[in-house]
Amino acid sequence: MKFYFPDSQDLVSPTYDFVNDEYSPYRVRQRDDVYAHQAVTPIPYDGILVSKAVVDGSMKGAGKYSTPQRERLYRLGVRNFFRLPETCSTIGDCGAFNYIDEERPPYEVDEVIDFYGRCGFDAGISIDHIIFGYIPQESDTEPEPAWLERQQISLELAENFLAAAKKNGACFEPVGAAQGWGPDSYAHSVAQLQKMGYRRIALGGMVPLKSHEILACLRAIDEVRNHDAELHLLGINRVDSMEQFARHGVTSFDSTSVFRQAFMDDRNNYHTATDAYTAIRVPQVDGNPALKRLILSGSVSQAEAITAERACLRALREFDGEETSLEDVLTALQAYESLVLGPKKKSYLALYERTLSDAPWRACPCALCEKHGIEIAIFRGSERNKRRGFHNLTVLEAKMRSLTFG
Ligand SMILES: [Zn+2]
Repeated sequence: MKFYFPDSQDLVSPTYDFVNDEYSPYRVRQRDDVYAHQAVTPIPYDGILVSKAVVDGSMKGAGKYSTPQRERLYRLGVRNFFRLPETCSTIGDCGAFNYIDEERPPYEVDEVIDFYGRCGFDAGISIDHIIFGYIPQESDTEPEPAWLERQQISLELAENFLAAAKKNGACFEPVGAAQGWGPDSYAHSVAQLQKMGYRRIALGGMVPLKSHEILACLRAIDEVRNHDAELHLLGINRVDSMEQFARHGVTSFDSTSVFRQAFMDDRNNYHTATDAYTAIRVPQVDGNPALKRLILSGSVSQAEAITAERACLRALREFDGEETSLEDVLTALQAYESLVLGPKKKSYLALYERTLSDAPWRACPCALCEKHGIEIAIFRGSERNKRRGFHNLTVLEAKMRSLTFG
């Protein structure tokens, strides 16, 4: 089972100074900053997935690449641009989430083939159009006409994509994208794609589905699937179900979820093999919009906020060095939290107490926890938050490695 990490240009600076919260004056971002596969060992994924929409950056939710970065990707190729080791593979897709509101995908077959070819991807997924809707097998609800149309668009584009890839002598493996709204419609797409000549198929639009719904689709696909066909689950990370998925021909998946939980989830920010912990919020006085408003309106004194912020960081570091008690850290955190959070918001203190008492970073073998200690458990700015995301990827990698497929 292969896990691909979708790229969103998430890098960290190895020389970042956590004590003074500043970058090295000698840092050259594109030369010195590192990706997750350079920051931890073993590499926490088998490969990366790069979306054309994220590179192009013209539609909503995109725009992660500057023009010079885009040009470097084309010039260097995906492997050199990402400084990927031989063991990592690359797959390109169009990033259908970014154009979900459009009537048709905004790309032509030729430009997508050109993107995959020029960047030197190992595999490239045909242009698809996501269907957002699910009808279970036993229901007699009719699919919306727009769903049928999106499935048809995806199939037609897949057919043109494969023909054009063959005609141009493309070096990447073409992957057909299947869209559907339930077991039979996914099976239909897979059957059609196999008939066209695809032997690797990516299942799209399943992100909102529950695991048992995905399984129902996979069972229906089993009825039509060729014995050598391989399935990829787009945007799906269900470690608990992966062994089951594998029995139905799934050989790869991609997801950003464990990475993003580090800074997007309200509670489950720091993962361990069996648990998840809440990271300790110590926002920067300058970088927190809510706090800034309170300061500007005069309800909070800036000097008081800065003092409280510094007291938290100092107490946390002393706690990690066993120089201060848990009670003292919690007192400092409570003082700052009461300034940052309004009276209506729920306090995180009980969650922090659990994080600090268990101090899970002390037991983590990953290079980042070993080097940065408690800093990785502090929710504050992208250098700490992304490192925590990279740590979560190492936990996922270990979980995947402990599964048995066969
Ligand atoms: Zn770690």
